[in-house]
Amino acid sequence: MHDLQDRLAAALPTVRAGADAADADAKFPAESVRALADAGLMGLTLPTEVGGLGAGPVELVAAVSAVAAECGSTAMVHLMHLASAMVAAAAPPTAGGAELLADMAAGTALGTLAFSEKGSRSHFWAPVSKAVAADGAVRIRADKSWVTSASNADVYITSTLAPAATAATESDLYVVPRISDGVSIAGRFDGLGLRGNDSAPVRLDVEVPTGARLGAHGTGFALMMEVVLPWFSLGNSAVSLGLARAALERAIGHASAARFDHLDSALSDLPTIRAYLAKAWTDLSAHEALLRETAARVAEPDDTTVLAVLATKAGCNEAALRVTETALRVTGGAGFSRQVGVDRPYRDARAGFVMAPTSDALFDFTGRALCGLDLF
Ligand SMILES: Cc1cc2nc3c(=O)[nH]c(=O)nc-3n(C[C@H](O)[C@H](O)[C@H](O)COP(=O)(O)OP(=O)(O)OC[C@H]3O[C@@H](n4cnc5c(N)ncnc54)[C@H](O)[C@@H]3O)c2cc1C
Repeated sequence: MHDLQDRLAAALPTVRAGADAADADAKFPAESVRALADAGLMGLTLPTEVGGLGAGPVELVAAVSAVAAECGSTAMVHLMHLASAMVAAAAPPTAGGAELLADMAAGTALGTLAFSEKGSRSHFWAPVSKAVAADGAVRIRADKSWVTSASNADVYITSTLAPAATAATESDLYVVPRISDGVSIAGRFDGLGLRGNDSAPVRLDVEVPTGARLGAHGTGFALMMEVVLPWFSLGNSAVSLGLARAALERAIGHASAARFDHLDSALSDLPTIRAYLAKAWTDLSAHEALLRETAARVAEPDDTTVLAVLATKAGCNEAALRVTETALRVTGGAGFSRQVGVDRPYRDARAGFVMAPTSDALFDFTGRALCGLDLF
């Protein structure tokens, strides 16, 4: 997309300016989200027919990674919005679907995913809550364990088992407005990293019309696997790599600038330091290339694409752990404090691998796929 760089250039200064407060004060980056909306980027991948920019997976990873390099919390909020918008666009609810998509594209309705549940933890594909049919409506009672933008989103795309479900895969997705009666947000998020992303637990005891369901009855699992999983996994990988790139660039800058006056030399005059940086750069560049290739494959999927997406998320999440660890090591005590700016991406990058599907689950899925076993 020819104007993506211009749009990013318009929004990123605001994102950068809000990053420290998002981290230090766990402040939701509302101004940054507004800047992304003003630049059209909240509708980045939504179809142009609903007011989006119609961009694809390649542009998604470029944009999300650039936002993450400035502020991980904003990038996560942006990603959750786009993932929820994409699944709403794939199977719009019959009740208010057109208005919802237009509002999500404009960024006037902030979306998020309410999938993870207390009872099934990171196995988001297997909700334990079960909807109860109620005369043209359903009642959803669910303990959602993590909802990004919990107090700030306008709509939660919520998973739950279908009323007559007999298996974990017989689920539905519903649009639940945050202001619905029966939505209770359990406190503020206080995490190691991504501190501004407002990922709080949410208890639902809500009644929503059946027209708020995405797609046909019982298609929730398929929507999660076929729509949410690829978009979210690419974007989550991009968050990890954007954070890693920011940490590495700051470490390189510090290594070049920091001096040993008594030796009249720079930190970067140490071969050990240069080797750490070179290995981290090689690791990061290889995963950036992998992510670009996987994004291109998601744009034109074939039978091997799902496996590539799963392996890419795990690979990029783990690479970000290594690269940010190296950035911290290279920058020594200066990096351990807030002087150099590697501490925030180091902490933020520790979210990716525990976000579902977690790296360990992905390695298991990938191993199963390689060995010809069923994933579930
Ligand atoms: C910052 C942040 C934002 C989030 N935002 C959202 C959101 O908006 N919406 C949402 O629905 N969820 C969200 N989540 C939740 C996330 O997707 C996971 O569900 C959550 O992090 C899992 O935490 P847990 O303690 O339940 O992990 P557990 O499931 O208890 O996992 C603990 C450990 O067991 C391992 N493990 C679990 N299952 C397997 C397996 N099958 N094979 C091998 N190892 C396994 C895991 O890898 C992990 O190391 C968010 C999480 C974070 C950290």
